[in-house]
Amino acid sequence: MLNENAYALGANRSCIRDLFEYGCQRAAVVGRENVYDYSLGNPSIPSPKEVDQTIRDILSDTDSLLVHGYTSAVGDYATRKAISDDLNARYGAHTVPEEFFIGCGAAPELVSVFRALAVPGGEILTIAPYFPEYKPFVEEAGLRFRVVPPDVPSFQIGLAAVEERITPHTQAVLINSPNNPSGVVYTRETLTALSGLLVRKAAEYGHPIYLISDEPYRELAYGVEVPFVPHIYPDTILCYSYSKSLSLPGERIGYVYVPGAAADSQRLYAAIAGAARAGGHVCAPSLWQKVIARCAHLRPDLQSYDRNRKALYEGLTAMGYEMAKPDGAFYLFIKAPGGDANAFSQRAKEKDLLVVPGDGFGCPGYFRICYCVSFEMIQRSLPVFGELIKGVAEK
Ligand code: PLP
Repeated sequence: MLNENAYALGANRSCIRDLFEYGCQRAAVVGRENVYDYSLGNPSIPSPKEVDQTIRDILSDTDSLLVHGYTSAVGDYATRKAISDDLNARYGAHTVPEEFFIGCGAAPELVSVFRALAVPGGEILTIAPYFPEYKPFVEEAGLRFRVVPPDVPSFQIGLAAVEERITPHTQAVLINSPNNPSGVVYTRETLTALSGLLVRKAAEYGHPIYLISDEPYRELAYGVEVPFVPHIYPDTILCYSYSKSLSLPGERIGYVYVPGAAADSQRLYAAIAGAARAGGHVCAPSLWQKVIARCAHLRPDLQSYDRNRKALYEGLTAMGYEMAKPDGAFYLFIKAPGGDANAFSQRAKEKDLLVVPGDGFGCPGYFRICYCVSFEMIQRSLPVFGELIKGVAEK
């Protein structure tokens, strides 16, 4: 006998993966340059040069047994200290290394946090549009997954809608900014208002409501502030990843930060570490921990993403496409001309243009494009976007 939920998750590939694989097949037929694949969020800028140099340095200056050996289950102290120092310098924070758990990227970190908060009847409330993997992560942890509808057209957070859905069972509200898929960065004003609401509701229910801030795109912001969430709401659990910030998605490295000022913080930290242990997710890759210990201060060079972002935003807006201002990450979330994003995605696919319908992000009627692609591909694809919107207008 099998676990049918696990089977269903493994057997049904995600729509994003399907599109990506379709793109690979089409590339073999019509040539890579004739497929406009905006499906997958794989970084297209290389890691900073210092990262590769640091690997070489570590291999030559550190005992091999240390480089490849197990580290402390919660992560090397030097790594936690480097991250803590960096956050303190950047945000005037007062973090200490003991508040950090080094994880294998945001995905397993989130899973551990959900498991740590899993009590009978517990709920996690997230805001649409949201990263589709949240749903299986939350449900497999044994919690109820609840969604606040999108606040269109700004894609900030609709406070009244959050208030309607918070219940005494809400263990945490889960946010992601800069956001996948909308590219929107939640403003300080939005986060402050959310914080006020959570403080009020936590007092009303007599228990903390944590704010889980999923931040793999924190460094990918174009001239706008990405507020440090624990300064706005103390009961924050921050999940960070170097997958996008240092273009290291295949290396699996990040951290969870549990502020000492958060409610029940020591027990919370222990529960996250315990959940990670029960999930077999301790001791993140040792070499990568050592790299982060020396590279925590590095930031990506966003020039090529920014150029792509502007070319698409300006080009598509001029054609009549509508979308929220993409201030962060590497996504645009666009209103489907004609209203049906699945039909639009299908028509685009017939022209070898691959875009992801918003249904899986909890937001039908929109489609996502990832602009971590080459600038040349964007230029070649713009006329196709033009034909598609003209086709709808002429119907
Ligand atoms: N959260 C969001 C919003 C993401 O977009 C992703 C990956 O694309 C993840 C989490 C998982 O990232 P990681 O590679 O760090 O596991």
